[in-house]
Amino acid sequence: MARINEKLKLGAFVAAKGKCVYCDLDSRVHISVFCAMEVDHVPPHASKKSKDTPEGVVLCCPHCNKMLASHKNVLTVEERRSIVQKGLAEKKQDWFNSWMQILDQQTNS
Ligand SMILES: [Zn+2]
Repeated sequence: MARINEKLKLGAFVAAKGKCVYCDLDSRVHISVFCAMEVDHVPPHASKKSKDTPEGVVLCCPHCNKMLASHKNVLTVEERRSIVQKGLAEKKQDWFNSWMQILDQQTNS
């Protein structure tokens, strides 16, 4: 990942009011969350079209940034948010199913 200067990161933090632009995780809930926040280049760095400007970066959490790392041809915030939301919905469904299974097993034993 490219190094980003703190001024650019602060700009992204203020523009997003401290929240991940993709999943809405609020970095103000805890210092460890705040410290973990990253910026995502839009368009992505890997697309070779990115710019280190306030307009070229957004605040995002490490989970979303990792989820989007392989999507170098998804060039807008809206498209990238859509990928994250779909991924989170699938993950939540998986968690729900597996946690309910564990609860059922404990309830029946
Ligand atoms: Zn996020």
